Amino acid sequence: MCSIIGYYGKGIAAPILVKGLKRMEYRGYDSVGVATESNNQIELKKGIGKVNEVNSKIHLDTLPGKIGIGHTRWATHGKVTDFNAHPHSSNSGKIAIVHNGIIENFEELKKQLEADGYDFKSETDSEVIANLLQKHYEKTGDVKETILQTVSEIKGHYAFVAMFENGQLAAARFHEPLIVGIGQDDFFLSSDVLGFIEFTDDAIYLENGTFVILEKNKFQILDFNGEHAKYGITKVSKEFGDAYKGDYAHFTLKEIYEQPETILKAGEKSEEAVEQTVDYMRHSKNIYVTGSGTSYNSALIAKQILSKYAKVRIEPIIASELQFAPDSIEENSIIIAISQSGESADVLEAVKIGKQANCKIIAIVNLLTSSLAREADVVIGMNCGPEIGVAATKSFTAQLVILYKIVQKLSNNKITINFEKFAESIVETLENTTKIQQTAGKLKDVSDVYILGRGINHPIAIEAALKLKELTYIHAEGIAGGELKHGPLALMDTNVFVIIFNPNDSTYSDTLTSAREIKARGAKIIGVSDIESDVYDYWIKIPKINQVLYPISEIIPVQLLSYYAALEKDTDPDYPRNLAKSVTVK
Ligand code: GLU
Repeated sequence: MCSIIGYYGKGIAAPILVKGLKRMEYRGYDSVGVATESNNQIELKKGIGKVNEVNSKIHLDTLPGKIGIGHTRWATHGKVTDFNAHPHSSNSGKIAIVHNGIIENFEELKKQLEADGYDFKSETDSEVIANLLQKHYEKTGDVKETILQTVSEIKGHYAFVAMFENGQLAAARFHEPLIVGIGQDDFFLSSDVLGFIEFTDDAIYLENGTFVILEKNKFQILDFNGEHAKYGITKVSKEFGDAYKGDYAHFTLKEIYEQPETILKAGEKSEEAVEQTVDYMRHSKNIYVTGSGTSYNSALIAKQILSKYAKVRIEPIIASELQFAPDSIEENSIIIAISQSGESADVLEAVKIGKQANCKIIAIVNLLTSSLAREADVVIGMNCGPEIGVAATKSFTAQLVILYKIVQKLSNNKITINFEKFAESIVETLENTTKIQQTAGKLKDVSDVYILGRGINHPIAIEAALKLKELTYIHAEGIAGGELKHGPLALMDTNVFVIIFNPNDSTYSDTLTSAREIKARGAKIIGVSDIESDVYDYWIKIPKINQVLYPISEIIPVQLLSYYAALEKDTDPDYPRNLAKSVTVK
């Protein structure tokens, strides 16, 4: 989602803020703005568009002063306009805020403030924070009291930073990420460590329901009752600052190409956590696996591989659905929660419901300092480095590798996997992309793609459809092969493309028959298989490998296909429209 950032120190704030926002661009946004304080005056600039675009138009980075706040907005309330962009200043202009999240009771608060004589310039929910702060600050003249009174009135999920005209900075967190960076001579506030990683690797992850006040050379962290809150300083892995594209045209492409390494590194340093997970799973009657988007598709694969190879039954649950069926969770069970960022609001909500039912929480997560990691009883690290492209690629592979490791242990090593050899076979796929690129060219003007797979290849078809939708905006649908005759066959004609996942496993001949039935209706067929067939108009070859591993070897060429089709369609593969990397609002 959007990013917030704050700086208090000895350097000139504006360029530091702009740089930080730029590094967090992957989170998705539609507008950008910065406000700084200098000589007890607040100045503010904002506009719609990308950080670089807006900066070259209105020069955000030339604002004066050593204290400032910045924001990239992902609109939830009010259109994408310059006025709705953050920061928002209070009526007096003496306080400015940036906000991430949603203020649920903003309408009610706005009415009260309007009755008190406050005007509103934007359609956002966020502007009420600025005016509430002003109202309380005028009464109390004290930043701590002002924040306490304000947070006692606002409802919802939020992180906000407030800058006061006298140069004080305060920031509060409630179910949205907020991190304090402690530098040599300066402090940083950010939604993500990437916002300040090049300046410091000392970070304080603020707990929910706490706030920080920054003043010259000192800071205090308090809870919403005004008591001093406990906190720890974490050394952030420098690796997470290493989010540059290098020689690749896009992050997405770089991340697709990193997958051989992902295969070798996923779950590394989490061996004990895997052992413990296996132990919990052996002793629990009910196991639920939850996630959103790609992570949920991993849960669908988990169901198949766990039952097939380890005779363990699990129930996959879409994270956002759990709140509507909390009773479907049996008390004292296990919930395996999968999330790349560990900040997905839906997954955190599912975990909360699980905890209420006294469940053990196992997190499979990439960011070990995230909210999910902190909530969980056991944490297994994806260990795949920062994933910036909005469409998940290497994190999916990391999730599957971890699930394989769990399955191996649960089955007492009945299945053997040579991950080194597997990684080598993926290198081969990645080195031979001419066919994939040519096929992508054919998708340029296609409006519908259907994707077929049976058994374990069905959830892969669903994940492949998600990649196509995200990266190319083509309508795509994953279908279980056998369902073809129960409806989708009616859609097959000469305008349609169908991707068939047809590896050499027990589904092979049935799926080949489906391909022929589709071909007879004139649709074009892209076959993803280790066996060539005349039925495929385009054959994308996958390596002949241990069939347990087909899901990973099948999805990688389709990630590439989607990436290259995105380039054909001139869409931005790293930042698909309307989407955000970590969906921190419900
Ligand atoms: N709800 C606020 C808005 O629409 C903040 C959105 C965000 O998190 O970027 O402006």
